[in-house]
Amino acid sequence: MVDADPKGHTFAVIGAGMSGILAGIKLKQAGYKFQIFEKADRVGGTWRENTYPGIACDVPSHIYSYSFELNPEWSEFTSPGSEVQEYFEGVSKRYGVDSEIRFREAVTRCTWMGHEWEIETEKGHIERFRWVIAATGILHHPKYPEIEGLDDFDGPIFHTARWDHNVEIQGKKVGLIGTGSSGVQITAAIAPDVEKLSVFQRTAQWVVPNERVVYTEEEKEAFRTDADLLRNLHTEMSTAFNDGFATSVIDGNSELIDDIQKRCLEALETVQDPELKKKLQPTYKAACKRLVVSHNFYDAVQRPNVDIVTADIEQIEKNGVRAGEELHEIDVLVLATGFHVDAFMRPMNITGRNGIVLDEVWKDWPSAYLSIAVPDFPNFFMLNGPNSPVGNFSLIQTAEMQFDYVLKVVDHVNQGDLDVAVISQEAYQRFDAERYEAAKGTVWATGCNSWYLDNNGVPFAWPFPFSRFRAEMEAPKLEDYELAKS
Ligand code: NAP
Repeated sequence: MVDADPKGHTFAVIGAGMSGILAGIKLKQAGYKFQIFEKADRVGGTWRENTYPGIACDVPSHIYSYSFELNPEWSEFTSPGSEVQEYFEGVSKRYGVDSEIRFREAVTRCTWMGHEWEIETEKGHIERFRWVIAATGILHHPKYPEIEGLDDFDGPIFHTARWDHNVEIQGKKVGLIGTGSSGVQITAAIAPDVEKLSVFQRTAQWVVPNERVVYTEEEKEAFRTDADLLRNLHTEMSTAFNDGFATSVIDGNSELIDDIQKRCLEALETVQDPELKKKLQPTYKAACKRLVVSHNFYDAVQRPNVDIVTADIEQIEKNGVRAGEELHEIDVLVLATGFHVDAFMRPMNITGRNGIVLDEVWKDWPSAYLSIAVPDFPNFFMLNGPNSPVGNFSLIQTAEMQFDYVLKVVDHVNQGDLDVAVISQEAYQRFDAERYEAAKGTVWATGCNSWYLDNNGVPFAWPFPFSRFRAEMEAPKLEDYELAKS
């Protein structure tokens, strides 16, 4: 490996999911020394953890790929989760990143020591690194609902991200709490196999109809043999997405969102029973919550063995779930109740300069300059950190652009007589105030409850156009940083 860094600066990358693997590949290519720490025994992040029936990536597979590693083998337009997991495992091996990962070694502490970070892992290992890249993901701390009696349930009970494959659901009475993207995919997948499926829906979802497209062998062969075909497809899809949906969500009055809502309503019309249709009709604007995509949810819920329960859940009892006055008898209870989206790297103990603790800085809600850096935490960057475009652009494209930004800052420091970069308080506050104002005009702020909202009900995702994100990432404003020699 070429030593791009004459000062011997080393990187700790935390997490070996999509963005951690990406960081490893790019650091390796740039010739930097790095170590990836991964809490689990395999790469893959969210795709390793979510193995529930029906899991698929509802973002088109040809854009849910690294731009430098397009994949002609995707089986479908939106491929199953296991294939996405295989893709990340394959890429990580092919690029030699696997050998740089310390598996089963969660980082528990990062402490800034004045010129470098001290990192401690759950195994008690303590090491020092000049730079830290937190690639810990967003949707990875399961949120268990606070419902009376949850512990009283007699049968198996698990969260969607902790699916227990030892539990037989075939022919069983299954209860499913939650109708977000996970709950909807599970409903469609298991409805034909279970005796009874009781879906507890607190809020109806806008469900965008898609068509299941399975790539033929001929199509895959064309992708394999014609690299331009695959590249053009990736470019076309990314452009359409970034100019279309990504632009519309930041405008609460967008016509495109109205069109999407019309398509959702047409799909809802396929529900025959007027009472069921009414239950499934959302009362807020489409895309206010993260849109759910499905070609078979409405078919599934019209099966005679599926019950959409809209009465409030009163409590969970030994034999089932009591909603309204009625006890719904259940053998297996699945919690599709989402994630703690404000955790990011936490519960890791992170202490920056002057003893400033991240938990304290983020006590109300996490935020970051351009989603990447936090004042008082020198040489510490995040991929898909707070205020990242989570509901707008492809998370992979976002992480790639964020990483390129980080590398530009690092290269600048390394090439000069410097070794520390920390975002200034002033730059962070200027960005955050602008972001906060812009967030109020987005579709996420049009009057619904969702995981896009912070504690004050203000959306925390990137509220500006794609063009601004790209421009910010391409040319870091180095004047926004305090650059120093330690
Ligand atoms: P989610 O979108 O946060 O949905 C959680 C569901 O649980 C909602 O229906 C919520 O109801 C319900 N819920 C929560 N607490 C409840 C309670 N105490 N009582 C009754 N209902 C309760 O979680 P998710 O479905 O796991 O999806 C999270 C995100 O993961 C998605 O938005 C998406 O970004 C990502 N994801 C992506 C894919 C993909 O295909 N790419 C697939 C799955 C997930 P309310 O609506 O009333 O709050």
